[in-house]
Amino acid sequence: MKRIALAILVAACFTFPAPAELPFAQDRIGWNKPAAPFPIIGNIYYVGTAGLSVHLIATPAGLILIDQGLPESVPEIEENIARLGFKLTDVKLLLAGHAHFDHVGGLAALQHDSGAKVVAMAEDKPYLESGHIPFGPCRDVPTVPVKVDRTVRDGDSVSLGGTTLTAHRTGGHTPGATSWSMTVTEGGKAYRVLFASSTSTGGNPLVTVPEYKNIVADYRHSFAWLKSVKADVLLTEHQDLSEEIARAGRAKQGAPNPFIDPTALPRYVAASEAAFDKELARQRP
Ligand SMILES: [Zn+2]
Repeated sequence: MKRIALAILVAACFTFPAPAELPFAQDRIGWNKPAAPFPIIGNIYYVGTAGLSVHLIATPAGLILIDQGLPESVPEIEENIARLGFKLTDVKLLLAGHAHFDHVGGLAALQHDSGAKVVAMAEDKPYLESGHIPFGPCRDVPTVPVKVDRTVRDGDSVSLGGTTLTAHRTGGHTPGATSWSMTVTEGGKAYRVLFASSTSTGGNPLVTVPEYKNIVADYRHSFAWLKSVKADVLLTEHQDLSEEIARAGRAKQGAPNPFIDPTALPRYVAASEAAFDKELARQRP
């Protein structure tokens, strides 16, 4: 009985659009508009929606997906994977960016449909497995609980078919927010790619947060780390922050790969840190 009830609940979560009365209803509609998939660089592709990035990395041993969008994004993500000529059942690893409903809401369904293993940072694992994060605006938006198959810590690596991704804990937005880095080769040259996790304040309380006492220190650490590294290609969890669809448009017009832009990461971090400082000053009594 329990299984049947769960199956009905899961099907309901995955099948129906978000009812208008749910939190973030209008945001969800905008984020979930369809987007055509496109190649980024080397073996990296975009298979997300208009607002929510889902990055696919193709290796000879199978596919890796970073982020999984909203529950209602799953049919679009699956269609985009197919449109690029890839098979959903070839997805072997599902990497979590951070435990908010707009980036891991589709994780349970994609885990079910692909049979892939879920990899997540230790600090976000309890939220993924309970389907609930206890602070910030997302506490009102539960996600379908998932089993985390592999837990990583800052600096750990995940490899598949000759591609190695390194997990960097860039906490603050959530305690286990994870930026992933890898090297790609295109045209005989190697490029450093950073999949940066969200560092926005995103409505988070920053002052007196009993559920996350180190929140400000974690944001500060993340900004310092992001300023200490270099990336030839910046990719973000909301594609507009790294202008991915816009860059894909320029690529179509024959420009040299527009995703190669070493100025993107420093600009992104500077804007994010300035917004954080402003919000912290606003919240402090
Ligand atoms: Zn978030």
